[in-house]
Amino acid sequence: MQIAHTKEELRSMLSPLRGRKIVLVPTMGALHAGHASLLRQARELAGTEGSVVASIFLNPVQFDNAGDLATYPATPMQDLETCDSCGVDVVFMPSSDTMYCADRSVSLEETHLSSVLCGASRPGHFAGVCLVVNKLFNLVQPTDAIFGKKDYQQLAIIRRMVRDLDIPITLHGAEIVREADGLALSSRNVRLTPEHRQAAPAIRRSLLSAGEAYASGEPVDNICAQVRRSLESIPGVQCDYVELVDAQTLHEVTAPHRLALLAVAAWFGDVRLIDNIELSRS
Ligand code: AMP
Repeated sequence: MQIAHTKEELRSMLSPLRGRKIVLVPTMGALHAGHASLLRQARELAGTEGSVVASIFLNPVQFDNAGDLATYPATPMQDLETCDSCGVDVVFMPSSDTMYCADRSVSLEETHLSSVLCGASRPGHFAGVCLVVNKLFNLVQPTDAIFGKKDYQQLAIIRRMVRDLDIPITLHGAEIVREADGLALSSRNVRLTPEHRQAAPAIRRSLLSAGEAYASGEPVDNICAQVRRSLESIPGVQCDYVELVDAQTLHEVTAPHRLALLAVAAWFGDVRLIDNIELSRS
């Protein structure tokens, strides 16, 4: 496995690999089994002929909250071991100064899908995501890229960016990897208090029972209200949003729907957790 810290190193490491599949998995580090699953899927997709590139970059531009950026976990040595054991060929690990010129003045904004859910409560977040992902696409020039469905809105926005800008990359969505108790793996989970860590699987449980209620014809408003009530009955928990949206447009649905997404963001103390479930009703 090779490690590139600069754009020049990355270019020279990738140049002999061009002409075959190059699969990119962008991450912000503090890798866990969710990331590992994406890396292994990338390895499988690339096959023996192709290459897997992982980027590890804590992108400051996508953080709307300075405290969240400052406390975001970093485990670089462990991350490299994870990449190596998952069969990554090249890790791109740039510094912030390497990625961004101090006087950068070009931004990239998706305006429709970004206006709801996390986009509504994290101003500028998805513009920062689009900017860094676009830069990574240009630097790596992968044939394929893999993103997790845990960040469902992010995947939808990147799909839209790829479509609207004619970026010649095939995107793949990967299923959410969970702890045995149902909590979606997240780099932020280590910041939960022991009490909140114990209570956090309630998110998954409430989404599953909402799924049953949806299938049995329960009105959408009741379903969302019930999820909110059950999470907010936990001390120190505040929901940011609980919304049932169209799985493609991410805009709210009020009636039974072909393919919907029930998405939740909730503060467990000062840690913001997200999760979602795809729902369908015939
Ligand atoms: P992050 O490092 O949080 O930016 O995540 C990097 C990639 O890993 C994104 O595409 C995420 O959606 C994905 N990811 C994070 N957590 C999980 C998980 N629990 N299951 C599947 N994919 C995940």
